[in-house]
Amino acid sequence: MAEYKTKVLIIGSGPAGYTAGIYAARAGLSPVLAAGLQKGGQLTITTDVENFPGFPEPINGGELMRRMEKQAENVGVKIVAEQITGVDFSSRPFVLSSDNGSRFYADCVIIATGASARWLGLANEEKFRGFGVSACATCDGFFYRNKNVAVVGGGNTAAEEALYLAGIAKSVTLIHRRNELRADKIMQERIMQNPKIALEWDSVVEDVLGSDTPKGVTGAVLKNVKTGARKTIDIDGLFVAIGHKPNTEIFKEALALDDNGYIITPAGSCQTSVPGVFAAGDVKDSLYRQAVTAAGSGCQAFLEAERFLHAEGVLD
Ligand SMILES: Cc1cc2nc3c(=O)[nH]c(=O)nc-3n(C[C@H](O)[C@H](O)[C@H](O)COP(=O)(O)OP(=O)(O)OC[C@H]3O[C@@H](n4cnc5c(N)ncnc54)[C@H](O)[C@@H]3O)c2cc1C
Repeated sequence: MAEYKTKVLIIGSGPAGYTAGIYAARAGLSPVLAAGLQKGGQLTITTDVENFPGFPEPINGGELMRRMEKQAENVGVKIVAEQITGVDFSSRPFVLSSDNGSRFYADCVIIATGASARWLGLANEEKFRGFGVSACATCDGFFYRNKNVAVVGGGNTAAEEALYLAGIAKSVTLIHRRNELRADKIMQERIMQNPKIALEWDSVVEDVLGSDTPKGVTGAVLKNVKTGARKTIDIDGLFVAIGHKPNTEIFKEALALDDNGYIITPAGSCQTSVPGVFAAGDVKDSLYRQAVTAAGSGCQAFLEAERFLHAEGVLD
């Protein structure tokens, strides 16, 4: 239990949070960063990252985040292992509290709490996560060149993932629990016309099959929800595209959120509905959801926050 007073409080220790912290510390603002329960964010649950610039060889997601943490510490970010549980944005300084009972007083706040992929909840799905099971085709599709993959879902994200993978993989099986897609009509047409994409209607994934040496997915057991019939498909990768949940529960009374719970910011800005509170990364971005875009918006959020502090007279 502690008390922190800071010009800039950053919530979240993913690429967006650490980048905001690095910029704030280098600007001399001694930021405090609450790391949350998942220190390092979503990339800590993946294996190889090949699309973050600066790493000619694949880098393990956990290692990349440890390096960002070290860089943030080296430039002076105070990282505290706390999960923010309460926010009061009604007046400044803003007052926040944590699971440890700590209190934070901040002239401005940068929210970088990310989003969590929704998973099917199968034991083997978890076991093979990062070893054939993924929630991000843009991130991991590259590893499935000329291989057989499946995508689970029926909305726009699933359709986009299937079309993206069809450009890389040998075949894509789109598995949907209903007999029509929820994706936009144009996306549906593209799916239907793509010779590499096959559909499994009225079907759910009942199990993920795989081998331990080398560790990887080899198939999936599908169950037809109408007939109860089961079948096994041979696949090398399973992409779960049933949506993301932004981590905004604690902000829902304090900030404007969209229908899916993402923090609303104007186009090209990180400003939220409360002056002095900024949002960065996946918590405000349902579209790109990449480490490099999250890092970019962490930088942007801090630069906007700094301008705000100047305008408010907190900084000379
Ligand atoms: C399996 C997987 C593989 C991926 N692979 C790639 C890839 O190869 N390349 C790529 O560019 N992207 C990849 N991504 C996407 C990438 O991980 C995200 O786009 C990126 O991590 C988003 O960064 P962020 O900082 O916005 O949030 P996150 O990384 O989600 O971090 C959120 C942070 O907020 C913290 N937090 C949440 N709530 C609270 C709270 N109440 N108080 C304090 N802290 C809180 C969490 O502890 C966490 O530290 C992958 C994602 C997944 C799931």
